[in-house]
Amino acid sequence: MGNGKQLLEMKHICKAFPGVVALNDVSFDLHEGEVHALMGENGAGKSTLMKILTGTYKQDSGDIVYKGEILEKRDEKFMLSMGVAIIHQELSYVPHLTIAENLFLGREIVHHGVLHQKEMNEKAAQWLANVGVDLNPKRLMKSLMVSEQQMVEIAKAISYDANIIVMDEPTSAITDREVENLFKVIADLKAKGVGIIYISHKMDEILRISDRVTVFRDGCLVDTFQSDEVDIDQIIIAMVGRKLTDVFPKRSVEPGEEMLRIDGLTRKGVFEDVSFAVRRGEVLGVAGLMGAGRTEVMRCVCGLDKYDKGEIYVNGKEARIRTPKDAITNGIGLINEDRKGVGLVLPLSVKHNLTLSNLNKYFKTPLLVNRKENELADKEIKELHIKTPGRNYPVRNLSGGNQQKVVLGKVMLDESEILIMDEPTRGIDVGAKVEIYQLINDFVKNGKAVIVISSEMPELIGLSDRIVIMHEGKLVGKIDQKQDITQEKIMEYVMKQ
Ligand code: ADP
Ligand code: MG
Repeated sequence: MGNGKQLLEMKHICKAFPGVVALNDVSFDLHEGEVHALMGENGAGKSTLMKILTGTYKQDSGDIVYKGEILEKRDEKFMLSMGVAIIHQELSYVPHLTIAENLFLGREIVHHGVLHQKEMNEKAAQWLANVGVDLNPKRLMKSLMVSEQQMVEIAKAISYDANIIVMDEPTSAITDREVENLFKVIADLKAKGVGIIYISHKMDEILRISDRVTVFRDGCLVDTFQSDEVDIDQIIIAMVGRKLTDVFPKRSVEPGEEMLRIDGLTRKGVFEDVSFAVRRGEVLGVAGLMGAGRTEVMRCVCGLDKYDKGEIYVNGKEARIRTPKDAITNGIGLINEDRKGVGLVLPLSVKHNLTLSNLNKYFKTPLLVNRKENELADKEIKELHIKTPGRNYPVRNLSGGNQQKVVLGKVMLDESEILIMDEPTRGIDVGAKVEIYQLINDFVKNGKAVIVISSEMPELIGLSDRIVIMHEGKLVGKIDQKQDITQEKIMEYVMKQ
């Protein structure tokens, strides 16, 4: 635990939103110089508790004791002035302003009524350097990569010299090197006595940097552990309320005829002469290191990029796939980690996201549309266990795992026969992962096929019936028997190149 005294105590906090109890009698505390990690499935209530702390939401009941006093009326600005800063899970910058302007938003340096750009830029450069980032502060936020944007948010939170910094999934979009920089910064902050609340799904990160871990489930605080006394299994059991013996459900289907075959597919300078096939009832895994070309091949199969050579066959017939629409016509659906890119419209409701692209296909009579659409949406919500207060609820407010289930529901309604999934569970908690594995399973059981790319070996091995291995744009190996698929075997193919 942090060596310091208690910095913050949240007592018996309750908070409800329409249709959900987000927090049910949660008591939580933080010490000086402590990293207190919060874990729990998506929707467990972690972000809500933090938004109550930072003044975004007001609790329905319960007290917050900070610096020896009960905090009464408060808002974000006030909490920031009290030394409580947050790195939000959702990035919240102004895209057309520069990095420096974003960092100084609401606290601009003004001399005699004029903005002091030079001083702000210098200070901004220093703040960026403090978190190990080398970026020109005059660049526009929107010109940065997502990982850089996230690092700017981190630099911003730290620049307030706060006593408490909340980090809500700070590493979900940054590179390994940036993660290391962040961890160095966290160590410095700890040494200065700053209390840090750290939310992440990444078990290894949590165990490495935290002093205590608190686990949430369904709005309740389940348990708090000392990080050096707990192991991963105990945390998982606390998170999902059961043991994960059946993470990868067994299937017993004989694969049927070939559904998709790609033959000698080439995109010049990107990948070359790639061939493989997937049959009905089968999950084909595509293994390889980052940059092996897996995503690039799948983008061509889905019509997002053009291929220069080779053929794609669907159900034995050559399919000319030049646009995403061609892919959909051929029953090929893509789910990638960027859920927004595959037609998830965040401000729209769950219902509309599920049914929008199907309306004219299913419903000929306008009068029937609404009722039918409601029925269809409710059915999907139920079957996919989408946690939402209702079909009209905006997808934006759902957790990552539940958004991913909406995407799955959508492509299933699109009547895709072949699903290509690129990192289908990245950034999703264990419980939702298991549900998604189950859905994949149901999908292939119905005689359809799935191609999955994953950088998580246990996931790839657990899901796949067969594996192909790619390396530097080429197919370098195949494992055709389920029982032969092991991590060693896959790495052997990658390494001997
Ligand atoms: P976590 O951060 O642990 O994933 P959240 O705190 O974001 O979970 O969500 C807890 C519950 O509260 C979820 O069911 C979520 O849908 C709901 N929720 C969160 N924010 C809002 C909001 N602004 N309006 C309505 N419901 C919300
Ligand atoms: Mg959250």
